[in-house]
Amino acid sequence: MCPNSDHSHPIAVTVDDHAAPGAAPDATLIEELVVANQILFDQGVVDAFGHISVRHDKRPDRFLLARNMAPGQVTAADIVEFTLDGDPVNANGRRVYLERFIHGEIFRKRPDVMAVVHSHSHAIVPLTVVKGVRLQAIFHMAGFVGQGAPVFEIRDAGGDGTDLLISSPMLGAALAQHFDGHDIVLMRGHGSTVVGGSIRQAVYRAIYAELNARYQIEAMRMGEVTYLTEAESRACVANVEPQVQRPWDLWVEQARAKRRLDR
Ligand code: MN
Repeated sequence: MCPNSDHSHPIAVTVDDHAAPGAAPDATLIEELVVANQILFDQGVVDAFGHISVRHDKRPDRFLLARNMAPGQVTAADIVEFTLDGDPVNANGRRVYLERFIHGEIFRKRPDVMAVVHSHSHAIVPLTVVKGVRLQAIFHMAGFVGQGAPVFEIRDAGGDGTDLLISSPMLGAALAQHFDGHDIVLMRGHGSTVVGGSIRQAVYRAIYAELNARYQIEAMRMGEVTYLTEAESRACVANVEPQVQRPWDLWVEQARAKRRLDR
């Protein structure tokens, strides 16, 4: 139980709509966001928790994110439009994610970012809490991790006794500051958030960040680790990430096949 339970908030909240929806987003963008939710679940990045958002294609000051639910169950009807302040515009009483401020504040801080994934993926969490150890690029698929991912310490922004959740615009903005020059930020005792210039790139990075963490922990058990240099990381981002379409097609096929079998 969190020490500040007298201030605790429910993990799911209903928030009144604050503005009118804009022009409808492209249906293919919604469809891609839906399948991205399913892929992140299938690949073990998210479980019942975690989320992915995309910047609205018609309004850069809005973003799209599922209503409060498990990502693996998201359908097009579950996508809600938000302002960068994290206010829904068409929730119509549906509950929204408490941590929606992660997305709005990063989209505000980084105009180049088109998609954001927040997760508690398993191998990342240990790397958020060990002093003197940072997530570092260990193989060519994860050059974007760089030479030491920043760790967001929520006590610096929220003091002692928070529930670790990014549950306010203030905490979202404090997290977003760490994305200056970085595309992945770890969150102490919580998880991580990764960004990309597209849904596909953000999904790719979320999946390979988790693999990088797993490999790094395995390698550290055996001895001194040789990491990618900054120049190698840059070259891998430039030459490997453009191949995102290949794994994406595979992940989409897996997601569809799995759901055909489920029916
Ligand atoms: Mn979280």
